[in-house]
Amino acid sequence: MTHYSIFSLVKGALCGPGAWSPAWREPEPKAEYDVVIVGAGGHGLATAYYLAKEHGITNVAVLEKGYLGGGNTGRNTTIVRSNYLLDGNAHLYEWSMKLWENLSHDLNYNVMFSQRGVLNLAHSDAQMDAFRRRGNSMRLNGIDAELLDREGVRAMVPHLNFEDARFPIYGGLLQPRGGTARHDAVAWGFARAADSRGIDIIQNCEVTGIRREGNRVTGVETSRGFIGAKKIGIAVAGNSSRLAAMAGLRLPMESHLLQAFVSEALKPVIDTVVTYGAHHFYVSQSDKGSLVFGGDLDGYNSYAQRGNLPVVEDVITAGLSLFPNLSRVKLLRHWGGVMDMSMDGSPIIGKLPVEGLYLNGGWCYGGFKATPGSGWVFAHTIANDQPHPINEPLSLERFETGAVLDEKGAGPVPGHH
Ligand SMILES: Cc1cc2nc3c(=O)[nH]c(=O)nc-3n(C[C@H](O)[C@H](O)[C@H](O)COP(=O)(O)OP(=O)(O)OC[C@H]3O[C@@H](n4cnc5c(N)ncnc54)[C@H](O)[C@@H]3O)c2cc1C
Repeated sequence: MTHYSIFSLVKGALCGPGAWSPAWREPEPKAEYDVVIVGAGGHGLATAYYLAKEHGITNVAVLEKGYLGGGNTGRNTTIVRSNYLLDGNAHLYEWSMKLWENLSHDLNYNVMFSQRGVLNLAHSDAQMDAFRRRGNSMRLNGIDAELLDREGVRAMVPHLNFEDARFPIYGGLLQPRGGTARHDAVAWGFARAADSRGIDIIQNCEVTGIRREGNRVTGVETSRGFIGAKKIGIAVAGNSSRLAAMAGLRLPMESHLLQAFVSEALKPVIDTVVTYGAHHFYVSQSDKGSLVFGGDLDGYNSYAQRGNLPVVEDVITAGLSLFPNLSRVKLLRHWGGVMDMSMDGSPIIGKLPVEGLYLNGGWCYGGFKATPGSGWVFAHTIANDQPHPINEPLSLERFETGAVLDEKGAGPVPGHH
């Protein structure tokens, strides 16, 4: 496999396409693996990579029903942050942030991680108080946080509507180390690095059943035949409940639609990530110049990867109330993904009550930023058959014990998290 460097780039430029080797193989599935990961999104691929890198487990297959990175990993608005209030979440996302900071070097693949800051806007005194509390909690956890007043926000993002906004801007909570990454590159980088360590990535291979003997898994039925597995890790985001049902389990999770949008390319206008605290809206500008933005869920449960027009109108209305100067910008594309919304809004990473079966899901709006950290702790959990201290609070059992992690205090309503 080609090691990417300035020298390989020059060689590629001089010698043409023949100088490059494929980024990963297209292997045929073997009869059995030590570990089968279902889902070649960022989380499944990162898990496979860290299984090989951290635990020396390489007899692993990642099975993908479509093409790798074609799920939510390739559909999200790419915001990366670790600005969480509760310890259980803060530790996971901050560990992930630390892995992001060295990920391009680690994978030898430019994931275009850009620490341009994430700014949450506040629109009332009460919200400023809540942000102050969250910022303090972040700092106690060693996470960077800065509370900005209205003028501080104006200095950072002068195009915001400070004149006659429906919800006036009072200030904001900034995480300077937050930002964005290139979503496809994250999937491709992990795929290439996992493949180079001997992991089989098998695309166009849908898992249709989970075979058990007693209370232990023995393998998966797939569209390409039965594949034996000593351990199975589920990392299928919005399809988590479907996969768990194949093992006879019902998860505290619902699947919802979320859309994302990009505009035509503009000259630089927003050099950070802005989120709107009075309505649900978040925006950044891609390196190509497009505004990348999103808003609320579509509001009903679905497994369809497409959304509805009323949400398009709702999201754009919210955006324009913040940035009226963008009213003549053209929308280029929008699309949908299937969100794995958990009952408390926090992910579930851990063992399931079937021997050898593990779950990585319940990511709601925010699983992209967790990709490296989630893969790292999930690999640890699968390799050792027990969670790492970082994902211990994120177990499925918390719904039995009541130790839920309801970051927003929204209650057991998945669509509200
Ligand atoms: C519109 C949108 C915007 C978002 N914005 C952000 C954001 O700004 N920041 C952030 O942190 N998060 C965001 N998210 C959430 C984030 O994208 C996800 O939480 C994360 O990418 C999930 O990664 P994953 O690897 O678990 O899932 P996916 O990338 O969805 O991968 C799961 C894979 O499993 C495959 N699969 C499903 N069923 C089967 C089966 N039976 N057999 C084999 N394969 C199967 C799917 O085809 C898919 O490729 C957003 C999501 C959406 C939809």
